[in-house]
Amino acid sequence: MKLLYLIADGMGDWPLDELGGKTPMEAAHTPNMDELAKTGVVGRAQTVPEGMAPGSDVANMALLGFDPAEYHTGRGPIEAAAQGLDLNPDDLVWRLNLVTVSKLTIDGHMRDYSSGHIATEVSAPIVNALQEKLGNDMYTFYPGVQYRHLLVQHGGALTDDAHLLVSPPHDITDKPIKPDLRAFSKSPFLWDLVFEAKEVLDDRRINPSRANTIWPWGQGRPLILPDFKEKFGLEGAVISAVDLIKGLGNASNMAVIDVEGATGLLDTNYQGKVDAALSFLEDNDFVFVHLEGPDECGHGGVAADKVEAVSRFDAQVVGPLREALKGRETAWIVTCDHFTPIAERTHTRDAVPFILNGPGCEPSGISSFSERTADATGLKLDKGHELLAFALQKFGMKQ
Ligand SMILES: [Zn+2]
Repeated sequence: MKLLYLIADGMGDWPLDELGGKTPMEAAHTPNMDELAKTGVVGRAQTVPEGMAPGSDVANMALLGFDPAEYHTGRGPIEAAAQGLDLNPDDLVWRLNLVTVSKLTIDGHMRDYSSGHIATEVSAPIVNALQEKLGNDMYTFYPGVQYRHLLVQHGGALTDDAHLLVSPPHDITDKPIKPDLRAFSKSPFLWDLVFEAKEVLDDRRINPSRANTIWPWGQGRPLILPDFKEKFGLEGAVISAVDLIKGLGNASNMAVIDVEGATGLLDTNYQGKVDAALSFLEDNDFVFVHLEGPDECGHGGVAADKVEAVSRFDAQVVGPLREALKGRETAWIVTCDHFTPIAERTHTRDAVPFILNGPGCEPSGISSFSERTADATGLKLDKGHELLAFALQKFGMKQ
């Protein structure tokens, strides 16, 4: 039996007037998800535990079967796991965005959490220059992908910096940065680093992009996760463009498959991801295929883009996989990690809709897949990190 776990990041949404009262999932053309839903079990899962922020780090950790309340230490540590950084247990790993603010003063505003979706070829040299000029015994900068980078504060987990509350920049688009500057000011070293970095970024020879400030957030101790195969008895892989998912895979000893041209945006390499999933399943049991596009469209705030992202997920990922695996014993889990409503342009805690399709699945009696039809079945998992075990139980794959 092959198990495919397909994630459209941030796909969940609310009804929109501009879509005639439909959600993007309802407005999108999704014959493949609808077919799987028609013949499968459909419900909702609370992927973000009470008291935790609705980040992709928390939600995808839950989807992979690991309780975030037990294992989550921050966003930074997960992405450090993707890079396999050599860390000490007392290090504090920060996610470091390159952002655009109106001005780096108390009356400034966050303009763009991604510096115009800066390309890695542009951002990596900038982060290397920051390391060259500002790296020291206390701080080390590590380049990542696009606007997502890392800052390691050596021994920082033993300091008050571990408890600083800094907003995820994608949560404060066009909002004041004053509260977060206050947070930075509680750490003299971090405060100095942010302003010294501004001087580096002001040098146009080093920085040709729209980035004008570094934004450290999501800090925590290094990530430790159980071994996925030991926990679920499955030889598995993760396929995604983002370090967050690669880090969860790496930390739980799953295979991490890189796909050339996977951008995490609407124009990603869908076929490449499909081919990678199929070839891994030749000799293995389980793939977790993650598409970042719908989330970026949710943050972008353009409903038509999000509808397109959902339609492409169905047509270029779910469809081709169903076609290729026709006639073979296959089980499916299709869902999203959290909602990224167009109206909010950031994440919310809504319970996500899911489909389980495979042996042992009594159809829930619905004809299409959406937030509303999933709600209508009345099936809800209050602990999202139990969804995978619940599915394996249904499919008769529980070890
Ligand atoms: Zn997400």
